[in-house]
Amino acid sequence: MKVYINGKLFDEKDAKISVFDHGLLYGDGIFEGIRIYDGCIFRLDQHIERLEKSARAIKLVLPWTHEELCNAVVEACVANDLHNGYIRQVVTRGEGNLGLNPKTCHDPQHIVIADKISLYPEEFYKNGMEIITVPTRRLSVAAFPPMVKSLNYLNNIMAKMEAQIFGFMEALMLNEEGYVAECTGDNFFIIEKGVLYTPPVNASSLAGITRGATLDAARELGIPCVEQNLTRYDCWTCDEAFLTGTAAEMVPVIAVDDRKVGNGKPGPITLKLLDVFRKTVRRDGRMVVYPKK
Ligand code: PMP
Repeated sequence: MKVYINGKLFDEKDAKISVFDHGLLYGDGIFEGIRIYDGCIFRLDQHIERLEKSARAIKLVLPWTHEELCNAVVEACVANDLHNGYIRQVVTRGEGNLGLNPKTCHDPQHIVIADKISLYPEEFYKNGMEIITVPTRRLSVAAFPPMVKSLNYLNNIMAKMEAQIFGFMEALMLNEEGYVAECTGDNFFIIEKGVLYTPPVNASSLAGITRGATLDAARELGIPCVEQNLTRYDCWTCDEAFLTGTAAEMVPVIAVDDRKVGNGKPGPITLKLLDVFRKTVRRDGRMVVYPKK
């Protein structure tokens, strides 16, 4: 596998970053997880826009244009002849001294890894998954905006570990006020009486690209969408539920906190949305031009 670092491609074993990089020392950096389907990089521009916004929010000045950031992703796919897979684009603050001060870092590092991914077992997509609310709360917007896709995921990892203690693979995270925020690496949706609900982004969730695609798919199907605060009660009593994310795509949720969602099977509206989503991912993005073999 070839890894892209600052405009050059390296063999996997030679792809290295300094141990003094503040991305490693402090999680000072940002990233994107992007999907490629049959040579089409899904919503690449939106991912790069979110990366640029994350950078602005943490005052990390990107020395690359929007197009250069897009091209790096394309280049990593071409170098690995990747037609279907997952792309991880990372920007770190760069090498600095051992103090927190970001001003000691002068050279942000840009890394792109293009590889395969399989997040959850296939069975979850067919039969749905059960999730559980965990004690760890999603970071408050006042502590650190969860809208920034930063390299510091310990808040989410703590929640994931708690879910695992109870024998679940995914956790539902509440925000400081006790409303539903999101899952550890995915957005959360419920359906009640034919209406699709998801928490607003300022409820401490990430503005997921898959979340946006799901809302678009719902509008295409004429399903009313509402972004509003959700309680655990809403999740326990809804008709259908599912989570969305670039790596996970759309996974039906069939139980929350040991309360069956609907009849305990992936719901009909969820499956319709999944069908539309699967179609859009192959047409809504940037087509990669691969060199002829
Ligand atoms: N929430 C969090 C915390 C995430 O890390 C992610 C991405 N894995 C998502 C939601 C889903 O966002 P997207 O659809 O853009 O992948």
